[in-house]
Amino acid sequence: MSRSVDDRVDRADGADLAPAEAFALLGNETRIEILQALHEATVECVDDTPIQFSELYDRVDLDDSAHFNYHLKQLLDHFVRKVECEPAVDAAEDCVEGYEFRTPGWKVVRSVFAGTFTGRSELGPFDAPGDCYECGGALEARYANELLTVACTDCGRTPVNYPFPPGGLADRTPAEFLDAFHHHVRHHYCLAADGVCPECMGRMETSVTTETAMPGQEVAVEHVCGRCDNRLTSAVGVNLLDTAPVLTFFAERGVDLTTDPFWTHPWTVSDVHTTVVAEDPLRVRLDLPCDGDAIRVTVDGTLQVLAAEPVDPADASDLSA
Ligand SMILES: [Zn+2]
Ligand SMILES: [Zn+2]
Repeated sequence: MSRSVDDRVDRADGADLAPAEAFALLGNETRIEILQALHEATVECVDDTPIQFSELYDRVDLDDSAHFNYHLKQLLDHFVRKVECEPAVDAAEDCVEGYEFRTPGWKVVRSVFAGTFTGRSELGPFDAPGDCYECGGALEARYANELLTVACTDCGRTPVNYPFPPGGLADRTPAEFLDAFHHHVRHHYCLAADGVCPECMGRMETSVTTETAMPGQEVAVEHVCGRCDNRLTSAVGVNLLDTAPVLTFFAERGVDLTTDPFWTHPWTVSDVHTTVVAEDPLRVRLDLPCDGDAIRVTVDGTLQVLAAEPVDPADASDLSA
């Protein structure tokens, strides 16, 4: 599919739509079917042209074209755009009249596919790669209530617990599912650490705090979205998966942090390599081990990386794991 409606800034022509009005507009099965038909037709369309009325109509199970037209019109302005040709301007370009998504319409369809609104799935428990950061026990994964949990089979610790849309289970083996989950979480924390809410794209504020309720943890990172109040709390390490010196240090030793399931590195999900070296102002140090070496990363209370350099493993603390 070549169309990338997402990539451009797109606002409906009218005023902002209140959430209640948006849900009201979508509270109709025919309209959801029209959006899904537009999606199918767009995916199958090879020449990137708008989808014509007749093609949309044929794909929706409705025999009354006036009725169909009425619902399609309700979607215009906010969810679907009508592309019209001006003969004088467009004749030479073989302009095709039809319909295409506005960004909100596209998002509705994707949410349905992701199963955010409709999914009901469970999976596992099944074996997960890596060892427990606490006791070295084997890990197993379980998916229920739209959350993926990775837990230790011996001591019961839960290093990983994060939402994942059920659409991600379709057509994937458990191993592929874990792989997709890893990328999902890594990208969410990379976005959050860059100040962008992964749910609503609003502004996120990041703080490092020693007042954490996370079990067994002395220090945590909290990202809070000022727009939708999305809150992500984690160990410090998982937020460093996109930090250039860390990526490079591991890559030079043959470890690809972009593809390794993050929880297989204990420093991403625990404090085992993390030390609070000063309280005011806050300074937190992580000594991240790899292949007998270590890189020392120091961050401040906003997660700003103050320093990142290899250290002599003999000088690094807590490198046993
Ligand atoms: Zn354990
Ligand atoms: Zn948000």
